[in-house]
Amino acid sequence: MRQIIIIGSGPAGYTAGIYAARANLNPLLIASSVEAGGDLATTTDVENFPGFPDGILGPDLMVMMQAQAERFGTEVIFDDVVNLKLDGDVKQVTLGNGDVYEATAVIFATGSAYRKLGVPGEDQFSGHGVSWCATCDGFFFRNKTIAVVGGGDSAMEEATFLTRFADKVYVIHRGAALRASKTMQDRALTNPKIEFLFNKTVERIQGDEKVTGVELRDTINGTQSTLALEGLFIAIGADPRTHLVHGQLDFAPDGTIAVEGRSSRTNIPGVFVAGDVLDPTYRQAVTAAASGTVAALDAEHYLAAHPSEKEAAHG
Ligand code: NAP
Repeated sequence: MRQIIIIGSGPAGYTAGIYAARANLNPLLIASSVEAGGDLATTTDVENFPGFPDGILGPDLMVMMQAQAERFGTEVIFDDVVNLKLDGDVKQVTLGNGDVYEATAVIFATGSAYRKLGVPGEDQFSGHGVSWCATCDGFFFRNKTIAVVGGGDSAMEEATFLTRFADKVYVIHRGAALRASKTMQDRALTNPKIEFLFNKTVERIQGDEKVTGVELRDTINGTQSTLALEGLFIAIGADPRTHLVHGQLDFAPDGTIAVEGRSSRTNIPGVFVAGDVLDPTYRQAVTAAASGTVAALDAEHYLAAHPSEKEAAHG
């Protein structure tokens, strides 16, 4: 029986771990078996996390966050949560290896999952030219012609990064204006290896064993065209990863988990959320970290008012 279990190991989860551990709550943090460290673990330079004037590599930042959480007593387990029972005073967390942990409070901070285009060929060529992670797969596209889909910061970041390998990188965006921040836009727009295709959607991904091209549709005049490519990176945002709590927690209309006011408190007492699962808008490492702080402080207050059975027995 634990006082608190934190599920998720991005900036929200680790920051919740730092705060909960410093409050002597001996948190257990479930970090996932393959995606530990969250999205930052597969990114490159992070230039906007305060305290690092020269930037820091995403994986290095996550290792430091983990070390900081562990330094104060957070116990980290690298496994996946497969089941959650959140109602009642004792919450149950079941891991992939079959172990079941119990706690008085749970902080749910599982982040978000990459969005798919939902077009023919996407699943078929996943891992054969279609990718969601430039830092993971960029190396395979040395001297090739590839494209990135999307108009946000992720698409700009991926496209810019991929020019290290590819000869040519198209950015295919469904709109006329980019959503990305000015700095990231400018970096991509001035890169001679990047060519922008505005007002275009990908209708189908073509290939034999690997991707050979895409069918495009112009969103203004409807004309169809094809573009020969050897790789397609999809960077069109992400959706909160909440399947474990469907049917248990209340949701907002935008698919995030509903919370009380500006707190992290869900509809179930003792269950708190942090990071992308409740933030559809900002989704930055630093806002996720702040959200982890809020959840840990809310959980600390809850635990002060609801001592666990073991503690209650000892008065
Ligand atoms: P995003 O800002 O939501 O942008 C998603 C982009 O994909 C938009 O341009 C959107 O088009 C397009 N899109 C969405 N669904 C699509 C579909 N089905 N087909 C074609 N295009 C589609 O997502 P993001 O770029 O992943 O960024 C998420 C958050 O992380 C943002 O807050 C961003 O600032 C942050 N981020 C920051 C950094 C950094 O600062 N270094 C790096 C990466 C991400 P529309 O514009 O037409 O809607």
